[in-house]
Amino acid sequence: MGNLSVVGAQWGDEGKGKVVDLLTARADIVVRFAGGSNAGHTLVVDGKRIVVHLLPSGVVHRGKVCVLGDGVVVDPEGLLRELSDLEAIGLRPEPAGLRLSARAHLVLPYHRELDRRREGVSEALGTTQRGIGPAYEDKMARRGLRVCDLRVPERLRARLQAAVEQVNPQLERLGGPRFTVDDLLPPLLDHARQLEPFIEDTGAFLQRALAAGQQVLFEGAQGVLLDIDHGTYPYVTSSTTLAGGAAAGAGVAPRDLGAVVGVAKAYVTRVGKGPFPTELAGEEGARLRQAGAEFGSTTGRPRRCGWLDLPQLRYAARVGGLDWLALTKADVLSGIEQTKVCVAYRWRGKRLDTPPVDAEDLAQVEPVYEPLTAFSGSLREVRDYEALPAGLRELVALIEREVGVRVGLVSLGPQREQTILRHGFQAAP
Ligand code: GDP
Repeated sequence: MGNLSVVGAQWGDEGKGKVVDLLTARADIVVRFAGGSNAGHTLVVDGKRIVVHLLPSGVVHRGKVCVLGDGVVVDPEGLLRELSDLEAIGLRPEPAGLRLSARAHLVLPYHRELDRRREGVSEALGTTQRGIGPAYEDKMARRGLRVCDLRVPERLRARLQAAVEQVNPQLERLGGPRFTVDDLLPPLLDHARQLEPFIEDTGAFLQRALAAGQQVLFEGAQGVLLDIDHGTYPYVTSSTTLAGGAAAGAGVAPRDLGAVVGVAKAYVTRVGKGPFPTELAGEEGARLRQAGAEFGSTTGRPRRCGWLDLPQLRYAARVGGLDWLALTKADVLSGIEQTKVCVAYRWRGKRLDTPPVDAEDLAQVEPVYEPLTAFSGSLREVRDYEALPAGLRELVALIEREVGVRVGLVSLGPQREQTILRHGFQAAP
């Protein structure tokens, strides 16, 4: 089936971790191309629950190479912590199994501090306060430090000096501490020493691998509606979340990205503020949250929950260039009464098939719902599409008709086996 790009088709937390984990079986290399440790993938392997933030979820597969590409921002301390967590369960990758881009930007302690100190803003935008936004700000302002700087101590010192001079007045205004090079440099040099074996020109590495016919899976973070350009701005993340950004963020040609798989839940969740037309308040929302265990894997925050939103998904399919949809957590709707799906919005007397551009306008739309035939009982043992309840098959057919994208995978539980593949969509080579 060639290379694949897997992205979230909603507001993140769609269960990409499981889908990527499954598809990794047919890849040689798994690449993250954007974002940082603000992502959180929950993986269940041999009954053990593992959360990775920065590392691609492919890291739990032996024999695969994981790449943190040029567009990623890397917190060296956080990365080393994830590696030691993996070591504790015997899954730490060998240096040859993890390639860290020399071009990736660094998330440093003052970025985290800035994120925390700008609490009001961070909270409103729903950021994870891990310094990702401030690190991307420095990158775009062309004053960021990169992984390659870790290799040359005197350059690292000079660049850190310039950085603290720039950041300290900002922190002072926010009542924060002052950073000095003397405090920052020694631990950073230690991290640099530990990370050195992993550092690489990953774009060149990937191009060689692709030329040799290796299969690459590009793993997106967050979801289309959180994309910096195409999401519900300003309630978005600070980088690209689209497969369109994968070529730039990984340093490969657009033609190398392969088919694009969008992962969508059978309902919708959202973390942080921002418009959410199909949100369920009170009891109904709490029921979905409970049934789907919708609490953030990075922050533990309860997620806002609501009905599946097809105008949103239609937009994601178009702007994200989705070739396939993977529908996750379909089992969660089992036993939920009066299930609905939003098929359009009503806004200022008009019917809209996709969301308006401005988040404030999106906050005013009224969802047009269609009821679904409710279904119940455990679906986790079902392996045959035709054996699924009629209500769920109706939902899949409705999505395919309304969004115009094939649902190639239906996930019915957190385990790898609790998955049904359709239309010849293949998880194995
Ligand atoms: P990600 O960042 O998009 O991978 O999302 P999360 O890490 O928040 O994963 C979603 C959670 O749902 C994890 O705890 C998964 O184990 C779990 N999960 C994934 N797919 C399914 C599914 O089909 N059904 C159920 N019930 N849980 C799932």
